[in-house]
Amino acid sequence: MTEAFVVGSGPNGLSAAVVLARAGVKVTVLEAADTIGGGTRTEELTVPGVLHDVCSAVHPMGVGSPFLRGLKGIEWLWPEVDLAHPLEGQQPGVLLRSLDDTVAGLGRDGAAWRRLFGPIANSFEALNEDILRPSLNIPHHPVALARFGLRAFAPATAVARRWKGDQARALFAGVAAHSFRPLTSPGSAAIGMALTTAGHAFGWPVAKGGSRSITDAMAAELLELGGTIETGVTVTSLRDLDGIVMLDLAPANAANVIGERLPVRVRRAYRAYRHGPGAFKVDLAVEGGIPWRDEACRKAGTVHLGGTIEQVAASERDINAGRMPKSPFVLVAQQYLADPSRSRGDVHPVWSYAHVPAGWTGNATEVVLDQIERFAPGTRERIVGRSTRSTSELQAYNANYLGGDVVTGRNDLRQVVSRPRFTARPYSTGVPGVFLCSAATPPGGGVHGMCGVNAAAAALRDLRD
Ligand SMILES: Cc1cc2nc3c(=O)[nH]c(=O)nc-3n(C[C@H](O)[C@H](O)[C@H](O)COP(=O)(O)OP(=O)(O)OC[C@H]3O[C@@H](n4cnc5c(N)ncnc54)[C@H](O)[C@@H]3O)c2cc1C
Repeated sequence: MTEAFVVGSGPNGLSAAVVLARAGVKVTVLEAADTIGGGTRTEELTVPGVLHDVCSAVHPMGVGSPFLRGLKGIEWLWPEVDLAHPLEGQQPGVLLRSLDDTVAGLGRDGAAWRRLFGPIANSFEALNEDILRPSLNIPHHPVALARFGLRAFAPATAVARRWKGDQARALFAGVAAHSFRPLTSPGSAAIGMALTTAGHAFGWPVAKGGSRSITDAMAAELLELGGTIETGVTVTSLRDLDGIVMLDLAPANAANVIGERLPVRVRRAYRAYRHGPGAFKVDLAVEGGIPWRDEACRKAGTVHLGGTIEQVAASERDINAGRMPKSPFVLVAQQYLADPSRSRGDVHPVWSYAHVPAGWTGNATEVVLDQIERFAPGTRERIVGRSTRSTSELQAYNANYLGGDVVTGRNDLRQVVSRPRFTARPYSTGVPGVFLCSAATPPGGGVHGMCGVNAAAAALRDLRD
């Protein structure tokens, strides 16, 4: 029987493990931390009984993932409003799963929103097949992919020019900012296009019980198939790993583990792999929830804080230039609105993080709270518990988050098209039997498990050849 070792139990490590185990491979997962899950853990970070997602919170790409759809044990829950982007002195931009309702809320910009996202959302199931694969391959749906790619390769600010009002422009800017790129840079529209369209195709749901239920479901299937998981094991070399090896690691860390056996050209590429800006995480326990001024924010699973497109673009430009903005872009999630099991009585978990420069050493707690208070005065008085993680604490928590980069790699045009290096075999490390399967490989960051699925498929192909 073929044996495989998976290093790291994030969603991509565990998806690789499940795909290999389904093919009859004997799989052992080795995880450095004391619990499994990587970026999908859920814990009582503030007050007992209040459940916080430590990393990932909201899953538009997860609900559309062909791999996760086939797993038992994940239940998606949708908030009434998928995403709200409040603005000072005017109505917020609001993204709803229903394209019609979103269009209706965007007034004079609604028609242009429909023209852009309607056709792509209609073909998103098909398009997803190509988006979730390595890009340097022949696409299954070239027309749908070309329609998407035409806009995705543009700067987010160029795509936003079709709208006149602040709502639509800010709404798109906030989603595009998930790329952590300057919104004027080529390709900065790609993640905004994908996540907005996924929003219309599938919504922006949360996982019942917390994000940990996603990797718990993978682990349950792996164990059922006879696999083994060992926690508290930090792998530092390939010694003792006698079989296929799948590395759920950032490329620089993978290079350290592989050591001398890594071909020089791959080592160079892994060392040249670029990481993006960082995150500063703030989790709050809030009595009565956040008192947002706008009703849409009070119902929204996700709230983007940063003001107009010009303000969001300025703060994203700053963090990419290594400067901490006074008013950074902040993401807030209120998972308890869709999943009340996360709260204890009237005390609710609120998840947030600010975009900050890579490796930034300051404390962003007060600027995050200022940004929330800007649209929800009185929030501070309701906070009964808080927990924070700086860029270095995030990296200590998970070695993949170099400099606080929570998506394991900069989303510049080059790395969107060819991560972790320019090759048609992105999962291959050049060492026979050793594969990279983390979010540093296609299709990139987020909880969808498809990096692991594709890497395991590559390993199984090699086994057959
Ligand atoms: C604050 C934050 C918010 C996020 N929000 C979202 C969101 O809302 N939606 C979304 O889809 N995504 C979100 N993400 C991103 C998402 O969590 C990641 O893209 C995803 O978890 C990547 O999965 P992975 O399997 O590649 O790696 P990871 O989840 O990073 O897992 C890697 C695992 O490998 C282990 N490991 C590392 N080195 C070793 C070693 N040497 N030996 C053994 N084990 C090792 C680590 O401990 C970790 O458990 C967020 C991430 C963060 C940090």
